[in-house]
Amino acid sequence: MDLLEHQGKELLAGYRLPVTTGQIAFSADEAVAAADSIGLPVVVKAQVHTGGRGKAGGVKIGDSLQDVRKHADNILGLDIKGHIVRRLWIEKAADIADEYYVSFTFDRSVKQHLGILSAEGGVEIEIVAKEKPEAIAKVLINPLDGLTASAARVWAEQAHTDKTALDRIVDMLMSLYKVYVEADAELVEINPLILTSAGDVVALDAKISVDGNSIYRHASYEEYVATQVRDDREREAHAKGLTYVGLEGSVGVIANGAGLAMSTVDIVHQVGGKPANFLDLGGGADANVMTAALELLNNDQSVESILVNIFGGITRCDKVANGIIEALNRVDITSPLVVRLDGTTADEGRELLKPHVSSDLMMASDMLEAARLAVELARSTRATS
Ligand code: GDP
Ligand code: MN
Repeated sequence: MDLLEHQGKELLAGYRLPVTTGQIAFSADEAVAAADSIGLPVVVKAQVHTGGRGKAGGVKIGDSLQDVRKHADNILGLDIKGHIVRRLWIEKAADIADEYYVSFTFDRSVKQHLGILSAEGGVEIEIVAKEKPEAIAKVLINPLDGLTASAARVWAEQAHTDKTALDRIVDMLMSLYKVYVEADAELVEINPLILTSAGDVVALDAKISVDGNSIYRHASYEEYVATQVRDDREREAHAKGLTYVGLEGSVGVIANGAGLAMSTVDIVHQVGGKPANFLDLGGGADANVMTAALELLNNDQSVESILVNIFGGITRCDKVANGIIEALNRVDITSPLVVRLDGTTADEGRELLKPHVSSDLMMASDMLEAARLAVELARSTRATS
């Protein structure tokens, strides 16, 4: 779950880390009022769930209140990589002597935390990695040991951060690691971490992502849930308790089990189609779950055919077939359905569906045939509509 910059900074401030103070604004008037109370100069910053805001014109320094109004007017409504700016963060402008990059994340391949530090801050780390890889210092942290002061010191020296500020940088690195662990974060990325002319080490940006499964441990995380951007389909799926990811194509996918749902998405691609979604029914695909899934795909304007791919294990295909029949009675499905049943009680399931077979409900004997048919139907739906 991604946090907005100001939420990240407030989280850091809660752990007593130095961040620039600021205020949220939803309009130019609010931005001007905030700037007036903070004191000029300020920085007007777009609050969206994506980076690269500076390059896109979403970060501007305001030296006067007129400036602040102009910047706020320009930034509100701006489209930054598909994210429309509705919220601003107005903060005291910092006096930057040096910019660094620091991040903590998890390296699954070695089952350790990974810290990345570079004295080349303020630019995208991917660019530094490509053009000046020697400027990046990495450290692997065993979660049982944590980040020790001596390891942090060696790390900072390798990254060639300012020698005179070494103690403060080491303190900052250790504090950030502590936040990363205690906040159940999956990513803490500070770019830039700055050294001010006065010698202070401050987080000027904060890109923090916390584990969505840890919400129950942190009462304050409800606020982050509220600001998550979901497309309408994902919102509806979430409300219905379905495991769903919206995609760009036209073939609706319903499968039982995450592995089978992923294979179904793959095979639709393989036969030249584009899946509209990933949807895993989970175990026990009864009439209620099937109805919810079909309703969801039916409400999606981009869906032109629906591929139901079930492999019965604990799930029984006869129950799934009954679920489909009942769902069809409840929902007026506008896209043709292709059903593939295999595994436990597949024969019984197919027998149950047989009387309902039409040009809007077809059966396929295997996954490949089902995918081909669904992709073909999506094409012909488009041709006739
Ligand atoms: P991003 O582009 O989304 O990563 O947004 P940042 O918060 O990192 O801001 C982009 C850039 O704007 C930073 O790398 C800084 O160079 C600059 N910037 C942001 N805040 C300030 C500030 O208070 N003072 C100055 N001088 N520059 C700032
Ligand atoms: Mn940044």
